[in-house]
Amino acid sequence: MDLWGVPGAVPFMVSATAGTTVLGSFDPIEELADVCEEHNLWLHVDACWGGAALLSNKHKHLLKGVQRAHSVAWNPHKMLMAGQQCSAFLVRDKTGLLQRCHSACASYLFQKDKFYDISCDTGDKSIQCGRKADAFRFWLMWKALGTRELERRVDHALEMARYLTEGIKKRDGFRLLMEPEYTNVCFWYIPPSMRKIPDSPEFWQKVEAVAPKIKERMMKTGSMMVGYQSHGINANFFRMIIISPWVSTKDMDFVLDEIHRLGADL
Ligand SMILES: *Cc1c(COP(=O)(O)O)cnc(C)c1O
Repeated sequence: MDLWGVPGAVPFMVSATAGTTVLGSFDPIEELADVCEEHNLWLHVDACWGGAALLSNKHKHLLKGVQRAHSVAWNPHKMLMAGQQCSAFLVRDKTGLLQRCHSACASYLFQKDKFYDISCDTGDKSIQCGRKADAFRFWLMWKALGTRELERRVDHALEMARYLTEGIKKRDGFRLLMEPEYTNVCFWYIPPSMRKIPDSPEFWQKVEAVAPKIKERMMKTGSMMVGYQSHGINANFFRMIIISPWVSTKDMDFVLDEIHRLGADL
Protein backbone atom coordinates (compact mmCIF):
# COMPACT_ATOMS: atom_id res chain seq x y z
CA MET A 1 0.00 0.00 0.00
CA ASP A 2 1.14 3.54 -0.75
CA LEU A 3 -0.01 5.75 2.09
CA TRP A 4 0.60 9.51 1.94
CA GLY A 5 3.37 8.83 -0.55
CA VAL A 6 5.16 6.39 1.78
CA PRO A 7 5.62 3.11 -0.09
CA GLY A 8 4.89 0.02 1.96
CA ALA A 9 3.21 1.96 4.77
CA VAL A 10 0.45 -0.05 6.40
CA PRO A 11 -2.05 1.54 8.76
CA PHE A 12 -2.26 -0.28 12.10
CA MET A 13 -4.62 1.90 14.11
CA VAL A 14 -7.46 4.38 13.98
CA SER A 15 -7.56 7.18 16.51
CA ALA A 16 -11.08 8.52 16.97
CA THR A 17 -11.93 11.59 19.00
CA ALA A 18 -14.89 11.78 21.34
CA GLY A 19 -15.20 15.48 22.03
CA THR A 20 -12.67 17.51 20.07
CA THR A 21 -10.97 20.28 22.00
CA VAL A 22 -12.17 23.22 19.94
CA LEU A 23 -15.56 22.28 18.52
CA GLY A 24 -16.58 19.45 20.87
CA SER A 25 -17.32 17.09 17.97
CA PHE A 26 -17.69 13.34 18.28
CA ASP A 27 -16.50 10.78 15.73
CA PRO A 28 -18.96 7.95 14.97
CA ILE A 29 -17.26 5.25 17.05
CA GLU A 30 -19.61 2.41 16.11
CA GLU A 31 -18.91 2.85 12.39
CA LEU A 32 -15.16 3.19 12.97
CA ALA A 33 -15.20 0.03 15.09
CA ASP A 34 -16.81 -1.85 12.16
CA VAL A 35 -14.01 -0.71 9.84
CA CYS A 36 -11.34 -1.59 12.41
CA GLU A 37 -12.83 -5.01 13.00
CA GLU A 38 -12.92 -5.72 9.28
CA HIS A 39 -9.29 -4.71 8.79
CA ASN A 40 -7.94 -5.89 12.12
CA LEU A 41 -6.88 -2.41 13.26
CA TRP A 42 -6.39 -1.11 16.77
CA LEU A 43 -9.12 1.38 17.67
CA HIS A 44 -8.14 4.12 20.08
CA VAL A 45 -10.65 6.67 21.33
CA ASP A 46 -9.41 10.01 22.59
CA ALA A 47 -12.22 10.74 25.03
CA CYS A 48 -10.12 13.12 27.12
CA TRP A 49 -12.72 15.82 26.87
CA GLY A 50 -15.91 13.98 25.87
CA GLY A 51 -15.58 10.88 28.07
CA ALA A 52 -17.61 12.47 30.87
CA ALA A 53 -20.76 12.14 28.73
CA LEU A 54 -20.68 8.43 29.63
CA LEU A 55 -21.92 9.34 33.09
CA SER A 56 -25.11 10.77 31.65
CA ASN A 57 -27.91 8.45 30.57
CA LYS A 58 -29.17 11.28 28.40
CA HIS A 59 -25.89 11.99 26.59
CA LYS A 60 -23.89 8.75 26.66
CA HIS A 61 -25.10 7.98 23.12
CA LEU A 62 -22.39 10.42 21.98
CA LEU A 63 -19.86 7.67 22.68
CA LYS A 64 -21.95 4.78 21.35
CA GLY A 65 -19.67 1.86 20.58
CA VAL A 66 -16.80 3.02 22.83
CA GLN A 67 -16.80 -0.41 24.54
CA ARG A 68 -15.45 -1.81 21.25
CA ALA A 69 -12.30 0.34 21.40
CA HIS A 70 -8.98 -1.28 22.29
CA SER A 71 -7.89 1.77 24.24
CA VAL A 72 -9.48 4.93 25.57
CA ALA A 73 -7.94 8.07 27.03
CA TRP A 74 -10.06 10.08 29.45
CA ASN A 75 -9.34 13.12 31.60
CA PRO A 76 -11.66 13.29 34.63
CA HIS A 77 -9.84 16.57 35.42
CA LYS A 78 -11.70 18.27 32.60
CA MET A 79 -15.51 18.04 32.59
CA LEU A 80 -15.69 16.27 35.95
CA MET A 81 -13.32 18.71 37.63
CA ALA A 82 -11.20 16.10 39.42
CA GLY A 83 -8.05 17.78 40.74
CA GLN A 84 -5.37 18.36 38.10
CA GLN A 85 -3.97 16.09 36.89
CA CYS A 86 -6.12 13.01 36.51
CA SER A 87 -5.71 11.33 33.12
CA ALA A 88 -6.82 7.76 32.58
CA PHE A 89 -5.57 5.43 29.87
CA LEU A 90 -7.88 2.44 29.68
CA VAL A 91 -7.05 -0.71 27.71
CA ARG A 92 -9.29 -3.68 27.01
CA ASP A 93 -6.31 -6.03 26.94
CA LYS A 94 -6.00 -8.27 30.00
CA THR A 95 -2.76 -9.99 29.06
CA GLY A 96 -0.36 -7.47 30.58
CA LEU A 97 0.08 -5.35 27.46
CA LEU A 98 1.16 -2.24 29.36
CA GLN A 99 3.64 -4.30 31.32
CA ARG A 100 5.13 -5.66 28.11
CA CYS A 101 5.35 -2.17 26.62
CA HIS A 102 6.67 -0.18 29.56
CA SER A 103 8.12 -2.53 32.12
CA ALA A 104 11.75 -1.89 32.95
CA CYS A 105 11.91 -4.94 35.22
CA ALA A 106 14.40 -3.16 37.46
CA SER A 107 15.64 -5.82 39.83
CA TYR A 108 16.05 -3.28 42.62
CA LEU A 109 12.32 -2.32 42.42
CA PHE A 110 9.03 -4.21 42.59
CA GLN A 111 10.22 -7.33 44.39
CA LYS A 112 8.45 -10.51 43.35
CA ASP A 113 8.58 -12.29 46.69
CA LYS A 114 6.16 -10.07 48.58
CA PHE A 115 3.48 -11.44 50.86
CA TYR A 116 0.57 -10.08 48.74
CA ASP A 117 -0.64 -10.46 45.16
CA ILE A 118 2.03 -8.54 43.23
CA SER A 119 -0.34 -7.88 40.30
CA CYS A 120 -1.54 -5.02 42.53
CA ASP A 121 1.80 -3.27 41.98
CA THR A 122 1.07 -1.07 39.01
CA GLY A 123 4.30 0.94 39.00
CA ASP A 124 6.04 -1.09 36.31
CA LYS A 125 3.12 -0.71 33.87
CA SER A 126 3.41 3.06 33.45
CA ILE A 127 5.83 5.08 31.36
CA GLN A 128 6.91 7.06 34.38
CA CYS A 129 8.05 5.31 37.49
CA GLY A 130 7.56 7.92 40.20
CA ARG A 131 4.16 9.51 39.86
CA LYS A 132 1.14 10.61 41.85
CA ALA A 133 -1.77 8.26 42.42
CA ASP A 134 -3.98 10.15 39.96
CA ALA A 135 -6.71 7.52 39.98
CA PHE A 136 -7.17 8.08 43.70
CA ARG A 137 -8.45 11.63 43.17
CA PHE A 138 -11.15 10.38 40.88
CA TRP A 139 -12.04 7.42 43.08
CA LEU A 140 -12.38 9.65 46.13
CA MET A 141 -14.43 12.23 44.26
CA TRP A 142 -16.73 9.56 42.82
CA LYS A 143 -17.23 8.07 46.30
CA ALA A 144 -17.94 11.48 47.81
CA LEU A 145 -20.34 12.77 45.15
CA GLY A 146 -21.90 9.58 43.81
CA THR A 147 -22.75 8.61 40.25
CA ARG A 148 -26.06 10.52 40.32
CA GLU A 149 -24.37 13.81 41.22
CA LEU A 150 -21.72 13.37 38.51
CA GLU A 151 -24.51 12.66 36.03
CA ARG A 152 -26.41 15.74 37.20
CA ARG A 153 -23.31 17.88 36.64
CA VAL A 154 -22.80 16.63 33.09
CA ASP A 155 -26.50 17.10 32.30
CA HIS A 156 -26.45 20.59 33.79
CA ALA A 157 -23.41 21.65 31.73
CA LEU A 158 -25.07 20.45 28.54
CA GLU A 159 -28.31 22.18 29.51
CA MET A 160 -26.47 25.47 30.05
CA ALA A 161 -24.72 25.07 26.69
CA ARG A 162 -28.12 24.55 25.07
CA TYR A 163 -29.49 27.67 26.80
CA LEU A 164 -26.51 29.74 25.67
CA THR A 165 -26.92 28.45 22.12
CA GLU A 166 -30.57 29.50 22.04
CA GLY A 167 -29.57 32.93 23.39
CA ILE A 168 -27.05 33.32 20.57
CA LYS A 169 -29.68 32.41 18.00
CA LYS A 170 -32.14 34.95 19.41
CA ARG A 171 -29.83 37.94 19.71
CA ASP A 172 -28.86 40.37 16.99
CA GLY A 173 -25.18 40.38 16.17
CA PHE A 174 -24.42 36.90 17.46
CA ARG A 175 -23.69 34.08 15.00
CA LEU A 176 -23.27 30.44 15.81
CA LEU A 177 -20.36 28.63 14.14
CA MET A 178 -22.12 25.26 14.38
CA GLU A 179 -24.84 23.52 16.33
CA PRO A 180 -22.95 22.33 19.45
CA GLU A 181 -22.67 18.58 20.08
CA TYR A 182 -21.23 19.05 23.58
CA THR A 183 -20.63 22.07 25.82
CA ASN A 184 -18.32 23.86 23.37
CA VAL A 185 -20.37 26.81 22.16
CA CYS A 186 -18.52 28.54 19.32
CA PHE A 187 -19.83 31.86 18.04
CA TRP A 188 -18.98 35.23 16.56
CA TYR A 189 -20.03 38.61 17.84
CA ILE A 190 -20.66 41.11 15.06
CA PRO A 191 -20.63 44.73 16.33
CA PRO A 192 -23.46 47.00 15.02
CA SER A 193 -21.07 48.87 12.66
CA MET A 194 -20.38 45.65 10.74
CA ARG A 195 -23.87 44.20 10.56
CA LYS A 196 -24.73 45.71 7.19
CA ILE A 197 -21.54 44.49 5.48
CA PRO A 198 -22.28 41.48 3.24
CA ASP A 199 -20.43 38.20 3.81
CA SER A 200 -17.11 38.68 2.00
CA PRO A 201 -13.38 38.32 2.65
CA GLU A 202 -13.34 41.97 3.84
CA PHE A 203 -16.16 41.27 6.29
CA TRP A 204 -14.38 38.26 7.80
CA GLN A 205 -11.13 40.21 7.96
CA LYS A 206 -12.90 42.73 10.16
CA VAL A 207 -14.53 39.99 12.25
CA GLU A 208 -11.07 38.46 12.81
CA ALA A 209 -10.11 41.50 14.93
CA VAL A 210 -13.27 41.61 17.06
CA ALA A 211 -12.81 38.68 19.48
CA PRO A 212 -9.18 39.53 20.43
CA LYS A 213 -10.22 43.13 21.18
CA ILE A 214 -13.20 42.08 23.31
CA LYS A 215 -11.06 39.48 25.10
CA GLU A 216 -8.50 42.17 25.91
CA ARG A 217 -11.25 44.39 27.29
CA MET A 218 -12.83 41.61 29.36
CA MET A 219 -9.46 40.75 30.89
CA LYS A 220 -8.67 44.37 31.69
CA THR A 221 -12.15 44.84 33.16
CA GLY A 222 -11.83 41.55 35.00
CA SER A 223 -15.42 40.56 34.30
CA MET A 224 -14.91 37.12 32.73
CA MET A 225 -12.61 34.83 30.78
CA VAL A 226 -13.87 33.35 27.53
CA GLY A 227 -11.43 31.90 25.04
CA TYR A 228 -11.30 32.71 21.33
CA GLN A 229 -9.50 31.31 18.32
CA SER A 230 -9.61 30.82 14.58
CA HIS A 231 -10.12 27.34 13.20
CA GLY A 232 -9.47 26.30 9.60
CA ILE A 233 -11.20 28.85 7.38
CA ASN A 234 -13.15 30.32 10.30
CA ALA A 235 -12.08 33.75 11.53
CA ASN A 236 -11.56 34.31 15.28
CA PHE A 237 -14.62 33.22 17.22
CA PHE A 238 -15.47 32.88 20.89
CA ARG A 239 -15.34 29.39 22.33
CA MET A 240 -17.37 29.22 25.47
CA ILE A 241 -16.93 25.95 27.36
CA ILE A 242 -19.27 25.03 30.18
CA ILE A 243 -17.99 22.77 32.93
CA SER A 244 -18.83 24.28 36.30
CA PRO A 245 -21.91 22.88 38.07
CA TRP A 246 -22.37 26.29 39.67
CA VAL A 247 -23.18 28.32 36.57
CA SER A 248 -26.78 29.31 35.89
CA THR A 249 -28.86 30.72 33.04
CA LYS A 250 -28.15 34.18 34.55
CA ASP A 251 -24.43 33.61 33.92
CA MET A 252 -25.15 32.57 30.34
CA ASP A 253 -27.12 35.79 29.79
CA PHE A 254 -24.27 37.75 31.37
CA VAL A 255 -21.74 36.28 28.92
CA LEU A 256 -23.70 37.60 25.94
CA ASP A 257 -24.63 40.92 27.59
CA GLU A 258 -21.00 41.50 28.54
CA ILE A 259 -19.61 40.68 25.10
CA HIS A 260 -22.09 43.14 23.60
CA ARG A 261 -21.28 45.77 26.23
CA LEU A 262 -17.54 45.43 25.57
CA GLY A 263 -17.76 45.26 21.78
CA ALA A 264 -20.72 47.40 20.69
CA ASP A 265 -18.48 50.34 19.74
CA LEU A 266 -16.07 48.35 17.54
C1 LIG B 1 -7.13 18.00 26.73
C2 LIG B 1 -7.11 17.03 25.63
C3 LIG B 1 -6.03 16.18 25.47
C4 LIG B 1 -4.77 16.30 26.29
O1 LIG B 1 -4.87 15.81 27.54
P1 LIG B 1 -3.71 16.06 28.62
O2 LIG B 1 -3.93 14.98 29.61
O3 LIG B 1 -3.90 17.43 29.14
O4 LIG B 1 -2.39 15.91 27.91
C5 LIG B 1 -6.10 15.23 24.47
N1 LIG B 1 -7.17 15.15 23.65
C6 LIG B 1 -8.22 15.98 23.76
C7 LIG B 1 -9.38 15.87 22.80
C8 LIG B 1 -8.24 16.96 24.75
O5 LIG B 1 -9.25 17.83 24.85
